[in-house]
Amino acid sequence: MRRTPLVSAFLLAALTSPAYGWSEQGHRMVAELAQRQLSPEANAEVARLLEGEREPTLAGVSAWADQLRATDPEEGRRTAAWHYINFPEGDCSYDAARDCPGGDCIVEAIERQAELLADRTQPDAERARALKFVVHFVGDVHQPMHAGRRDDRGGNDYQISLRTELRPDAYGRYFYDAETRTQGTNLHAVWDRYVLLSRGLGWAEYADALAAEGVADVPRATPAAWAEQSCALIRDEGLYPDGHRMNDADLERLRPLAEAQVRAAAVRLAAVLEPALAGSAEGRGDVTPH
Ligand SMILES: [Zn+2]
Repeated sequence: MRRTPLVSAFLLAALTSPAYGWSEQGHRMVAELAQRQLSPEANAEVARLLEGEREPTLAGVSAWADQLRATDPEEGRRTAAWHYINFPEGDCSYDAARDCPGGDCIVEAIERQAELLADRTQPDAERARALKFVVHFVGDVHQPMHAGRRDDRGGNDYQISLRTELRPDAYGRYFYDAETRTQGTNLHAVWDRYVLLSRGLGWAEYADALAAEGVADVPRATPAAWAEQSCALIRDEGLYPDGHRMNDADLERLRPLAEAQVRAAAVRLAAVLEPALAGSAEGRGDVTPH
């Protein structure tokens, strides 16, 4: 069927809606590495809160917040701004009034959801939901383009011509030249998906490989500092390629940076989850007067 310009315009609009974070592969890796760092007590609370989930592990729920767009569009829209923060170009210092109006950004979302998770007066369903948000957002804030530049919406509006042997995703497929293996995509999508994908491992083996490198030695810091560090990576590591062109060699070169971010995210996620989950009401049964 020949596409009419109208249909093309519609598809283009549908396919260029902002990307929402590491691919499921990246989120699963962060979550799995973090879960391995939790105490048995905190792990038991994960299992209790996620009881009834199809896959009751942190990895299993790590992409839930992105899936909301499809499963609960209204909630997906309401929480869309919680997946990222944008900074003005050249300024990576977090200013809540400027960068997080109304508390609708990833920094404040992580703090709010972590508080909800730790609050044992909240119903379990509320805490389970907060757990799923925290697992997802701590991953997202370590994807550099999720703390990117406001002028191009974290690289979403920065077009990239990507020449790679990797298979294009739905967005890339639409602008794909099979002969030269070149796809039209954008810088945000390159970081969400292609940099980690270039390792050629499934998420579980990839998590094993990163776990073998040990627990990352990074400061626990705060969500605002995590966002500032992601922003600084964009500024300092030359993540904007010359001429809007990238290839497999670029993905190789950038991958250690992405892997370091995944490992840092895992440590920090575990540090947020451990106190919020350990010492649950059941665990404290011993000290409750009988
Ligand atoms: Zn996301």
